[in-house]
Amino acid sequence: MRRFAFGLACAAGLLSTAVAVAIIASSPGTDLSAWTDDAGSAVPALLVAPGFCLWAGLKQSRWRRLAWFLLGGSAFLWGVGEVVYTYYDLIGDGRPFPGYADLFFLGSVPLAAAGLLILPGAPRSLADAARQLFDGLLIGGSVLFISLTFALTDLWQSNLGHPLLNTVLGIAYPVSDVVLTSLALLALSRMRGGRLVPVLLTAGLCMLAVADTHFNYAQNMLGSNDADILDLGWYAGYFAIGLAALWAALHPERTAEEAATRGLGISVWQTLTPYLPLAGAASAAMFAAANSDVSRVLVFDGIAVLAFLVVRQLFTLVENIRLNRSLESKVAARTAELAVGKERLEHSERRFRSLVQHSSDVISVIDPGGRITFQAESVTGVLGYAADQLVGKPFLNIVQADDRALLASSMTKTTSEANGYAAIECRLLDHQGRVRYAEVRISNLIEDPAVGGIVLNLRDITERKRLERDLVHQAFHDSITSLPNRALFRDRLEHGLMRRGDRSVGILLLDLDGFKAVNDSLGHVAGDKLLRLVGERLGGAMRPGDTVARLGGDEFAVLVEGLRDEAQVADVAQRLIDVLKPAFTIENRDVVVRASIGIATVVSGTDDADHLLRSADLAMYRAKEHNTGGYEIYQPDLQDAAVRRFDLQSSLQSALDLGQMEVFYQPVIELGSGEAVGAEALVRWRHPEKGMISPVDFIPLAEQSGMIVPLGRWVLRTACAEAQGWRTKLGRDLGVSVNLSARQFRDVNLIADVSSALQDTGLPPNLLTLEVTESVLIDDLDDMIVILEMLRGLGVNLSLDDFGTGYSSFSYLRKIPVDELKIDRSFVSEMGDGQATAVARSIVTLGETLGLEIVAEGIEKADQYELLVGMGCHRGQGFHFSPPKPAPEVLALFERSFAVTADK
Ligand code: C2E
Ligand code: MG
Ligand code: MG
Repeated sequence: MRRFAFGLACAAGLLSTAVAVAIIASSPGTDLSAWTDDAGSAVPALLVAPGFCLWAGLKQSRWRRLAWFLLGGSAFLWGVGEVVYTYYDLIGDGRPFPGYADLFFLGSVPLAAAGLLILPGAPRSLADAARQLFDGLLIGGSVLFISLTFALTDLWQSNLGHPLLNTVLGIAYPVSDVVLTSLALLALSRMRGGRLVPVLLTAGLCMLAVADTHFNYAQNMLGSNDADILDLGWYAGYFAIGLAALWAALHPERTAEEAATRGLGISVWQTLTPYLPLAGAASAAMFAAANSDVSRVLVFDGIAVLAFLVVRQLFTLVENIRLNRSLESKVAARTAELAVGKERLEHSERRFRSLVQHSSDVISVIDPGGRITFQAESVTGVLGYAADQLVGKPFLNIVQADDRALLASSMTKTTSEANGYAAIECRLLDHQGRVRYAEVRISNLIEDPAVGGIVLNLRDITERKRLERDLVHQAFHDSITSLPNRALFRDRLEHGLMRRGDRSVGILLLDLDGFKAVNDSLGHVAGDKLLRLVGERLGGAMRPGDTVARLGGDEFAVLVEGLRDEAQVADVAQRLIDVLKPAFTIENRDVVVRASIGIATVVSGTDDADHLLRSADLAMYRAKEHNTGGYEIYQPDLQDAAVRRFDLQSSLQSALDLGQMEVFYQPVIELGSGEAVGAEALVRWRHPEKGMISPVDFIPLAEQSGMIVPLGRWVLRTACAEAQGWRTKLGRDLGVSVNLSARQFRDVNLIADVSSALQDTGLPPNLLTLEVTESVLIDDLDDMIVILEMLRGLGVNLSLDDFGTGYSSFSYLRKIPVDELKIDRSFVSEMGDGQATAVARSIVTLGETLGLEIVAEGIEKADQYELLVGMGCHRGQGFHFSPPKPAPEVLALFERSFAVTADK
């Protein structure tokens, strides 16, 4: 668009000039040609040039704006002069010289000169300024030389003799032509970047100078005032200036850019510009010499031009040196920069190479055919191969056979898409053929020119895999015995049930009797060792397909599959019992443990794993009750018993509040005299439907539910009150023994309960004996000793009940603060048997040695009584004397007894 507008203006300029030329050429000496010449020249000077210069000035900034305004102003002044001149010439009475027109003509010169000086902008340096000055002088000198040769000298001489003003004005025109032409050429040499503006401007000014010089010459030398084609130099000149301004107005950004990049590029022809007028001057000199027309002024001017040339060359040299230096330093800086860049690049490459080689990941690049084209050396650390050994070989060579298809398909998938990516886990073979687990990330970088292949990033995850396996193993195995745990056992049981077909599945639950004693007396390390040894023996007794598990504590389980009948599983149970029979050697001691085994099979009723486990549990419970270390196979009645127990447990909760509990008393007899010395309080439950229930049946339930604590407290208070009653009614101090269960020992209020029972009833503490079984002590011996000491501190007696049935009672008897031992009923009842008698005797002897009271329980027969008396046992109780009886009956018995002894 801008080009089009400019082209249009150019065309208008050329066309109008051509028309003017045609008019003047076709009708010389006519008014038309005179008007075309005079008034025609005023049009571009008044309108075209000032108009476009004004526009260009408005579009540009600072000094460029001022330059265009000055050039426009100059054109306008000249145009006004031309109008005045036209008036004189064609309308008025002829042209006066000097006249007003000269004022405008000559007035336009300083404006144009100033504009031309400012337009190219400030010089870059002092040397540049000086060089430009001398360029100006050189150009000026040369142009002056030409002018002197062809016009000025003649004009000067023809003006001599006129009045001074006329002479000066006459010379002023050619001189100003010389000055403006020189400045225009200078501007041409100075302006950087776009050429069109300076060329048009210079061309325009040169045309003005030519027209002016020609006019002056014609008028002064030839006396002609006719319109001449060369006069159209003004017309074309101002049109050209206007076009230069138009271009600058249309491309303000280009000229601004020129300003910014000024000094960066000097074109050849710009360099040559000052020499063009020099060449002209040289030609003029030859012309003058040929005509022997060499004046002194011309010679001086010639010398001056030569001097300017030399100086100008010097400055050019200086500037070239400066430019060279700056160029050199720039080149040096750039070279240094490049060197640093190169160094950095090399460093970065070294670093990346090192990172790739020493990374814990292994990077391999393979071609689409699967052959390794690059192999990072880190492969040696991970798989043991040397990198060179692998390059050129198919990558699949080092992949475990089973995983090759997976890797190959992942690679195919990755290569099928640009920048494809996949991540898989697969097994690799190291240099010794061992399997390593690896995570392989596959990236398709075939299109990347820096790589040009498929990149495999391998990470060794063998350790992680092992850890995962260990974790899974830990989650499903017991840490002590490494046997499957409850979760895995259940899982295997469920699987076994699912795939059993027409065969049966059986489970055996084993509970070790005596494990707790080992754990407590020998410590946990020994306990753990025992569990391990038991696990090994059980495992050794089973077939490889069977599962032996540890369910927790001292409970083991065995899963037997493919059973034909129950007899088979009973055989297994017996085998397990037998395998555990030989003593285990733990910390140089022989330790004997027994297992109570509960068995449940699918034959016994169910297909459900939970149900089967519960059934086996019930059977084991029954086996434990027998306390013989045998096995019990689940029977439906076990279930009934369990239900009954559950019913009992729920009604037990309210039994005490409903007054269904009673305390019976069994007299304790001084064996020598046969006299009652006290009684043991034994609780009874008078159930409204089931009748009298034995403590053997409900005490364990009360212990489980915690009910034993309030029940025991009640028995204690009742017994103390009863014994105090005997004191007051019989006037005798009769002792009372109260049984305490293990659960009561763990009750923080035990000491307070005992002491308040004594206080509230008024019974002297020495008349109260608290009976504990050895099993109470097994739990935590040291704590128990502390509690026993505290009870003793109250002044009460402590008795060890059912003595002889425990495991290692003899060993720690010395430590326990007791006053009395009660020989267990089992020894007394088997008294005829040599071994039982021996045990009873040794207990009596032990009591004597330690200064303890010995009480024999369960004396049913006279011979037992006699034997015990013979052994030196002081006290006893049993049906032989009296069964446990309600309080009033016992009181009556005492009364009778004392009456009898009193009678004696
Ligand atoms: P224990 O303390 O060893 O009580 C002696 C048991 O032997 C009593 O059974 C008694 O009736 C029974 N007995 C006594 N003489 C003979 C005899 O000549 N032949 C036979 N076969 N048995 C005889 P009982 O009353 O059934 O009590 C059983 C167990 O219940 C007691 O054994 C005791 O451990 C516990 N027990 C009883 N009452 C209480 C109580 O109030 N609190 C606690 N914690 N336990 C109690
Ligand atoms: Mg007792
Ligand atoms: Mg007893």
